[in-house]
Amino acid sequence: MTYVITSLCDGVCDTACVDVCPVDAIAGPVDIDELRQARARGESPDLTNTQLFIDPDTCIGCGACLPECPVAAIFEEDDVPAVHEGAIAANEAFFETR
Ligand code: SF4
Repeated sequence: MTYVITSLCDGVCDTACVDVCPVDAIAGPVDIDELRQARARGESPDLTNTQLFIDPDTCIGCGACLPECPVAAIFEEDDVPAVHEGAIAANEAFFETR
């Protein structure tokens, strides 16, 4: 069972989920290290319309990321709320282009 990050992550990109993922399945359109360095410098990068995604081909469904998300943006694929249904395809699509 794969996990999915919904658009609730938009503008947040906390990245705590990245640290706990044992298979490095989480990424986004921003460089995670650069984002963290900017925050460490006290900067607040503009993350409008920017979120992280989970690679469904890499995720092993361990669930470790779920409790780490401060905005509860992560769901098991079968539990994605209808309003966020498009997130399943969005997570897949992000990694198809990488
Ligand atoms: Fe990584 Fe586990 Fe979350 Fe999948 S469920 S993205 S393997 S931490």
